[in-house]
Amino acid sequence: MALLDQMAAHGYGELHLAHDRATGLRGYVAVHDTRLGPALGGCRFITYGSEEQAAIDALRLGRGMTSKAALAGLPLGGGKAVIWREDGAETRLAPGSPARRDLFRAFGRVVEGLKGRYITAEDSGTSPEDMVEIAQATKHVVGLPESLGGVGDPSPYTARGVRRGIEAVAREVLGRDSLDGVHVAIQGIGHVGLSLARELAAAGCKITVADIMFSRIRQAQQDVGADVGIADIDGILETECDILAPCALGGVIRGDTVGRLRCKAVAGAANNQLADPSVDAALFARGIFWAPDYAVNAAGLIWVAQTACGLSQAEAVKKIDAIYDTIADMWRRSRAEKTPPGALSDRMVEERLAQATR
Ligand code: NAD
Repeated sequence: MALLDQMAAHGYGELHLAHDRATGLRGYVAVHDTRLGPALGGCRFITYGSEEQAAIDALRLGRGMTSKAALAGLPLGGGKAVIWREDGAETRLAPGSPARRDLFRAFGRVVEGLKGRYITAEDSGTSPEDMVEIAQATKHVVGLPESLGGVGDPSPYTARGVRRGIEAVAREVLGRDSLDGVHVAIQGIGHVGLSLARELAAAGCKITVADIMFSRIRQAQQDVGADVGIADIDGILETECDILAPCALGGVIRGDTVGRLRCKAVAGAANNQLADPSVDAALFARGIFWAPDYAVNAAGLIWVAQTACGLSQAEAVKKIDAIYDTIADMWRRSRAEKTPPGALSDRMVEERLAQATR
């Protein structure tokens, strides 16, 4: 599909092209929607097969940020930037190299040129140090290191938000008064997954984990207790449990996976969990409640964006805890309106955007 058709299909918005001759910067800034506030979304620095693929990635991800911010009740719109990383440029653009610093300063000037309509942040391939370079050219950047006024690693807060989503699922879907005895299978026990495992274990959950790195499993056994269940990489999705929490990669729930799941609900941190939108309806048809990832994992955004939104830390934590209400509301409406949660959340986002323009 041509780019303008892609934009129309995603409900855009603007797509800005960025080029800087001196540094070789080539990229796109997608500003999806600014009705609720400035478009905030990370800046990716990765290799793409073509310019079109890079632009489409920015468009797809920018739209997702609008949904995430709207459902989290933040005064923000959605956007995303991608900077094209040339194949073979790893050494020249290694972290800390002069060429990389210049590149990100040039990108900062692009962001500054958008006059606050877009706020950038860390994403795949970028780091808090890159945000420092961007900040030389613009104030429209979040995710700086703590030593420079940033708010630090959002992962523990993302885990807190996922735990709140899981509490809502336990109460509404499973009809349980507490998490005590609820069995959660966690795929990926990295930054978010491990914090989540700790929180859930403290609340009395039975935990099963899987990770491709054995050191992570050992860490989970140390932190959570020796009785943590271990599943193999392929088996975790088929673990008989109450809630499956994907906390590793995107695209893990595919059309052909749905029939093999043995959980009652899916609620986890990983972005873009469904391989394609039709999986939303397939899960619904099987009676498995999917708590949309962009609602459940929004605490990372809430935490990182707190200063840009004028929130105190206490207010940010309150918004994170409100993820419970969003997921509970989604479950009730999904049942009442006989609509899969992904399709329903699109409706909820539209309602919130429409309210902003009244
Ligand atoms: P991470 O890299 O620290 O952890 C991911 C873990 O998954 C690692 O331990 C890795 O070994 C493991 N893993 C990779 N492939 C696997 C597989 N096939 N099976 C099992 N385990 C596998 O990342 P993270 O920061 O914990 O983020 C996890 C997910 O949550 C990502 O999808 C991320 O985009 C999303 N997310 C994170 C945040 C945050 O605050 N960190 C916020 C929102 C969304």
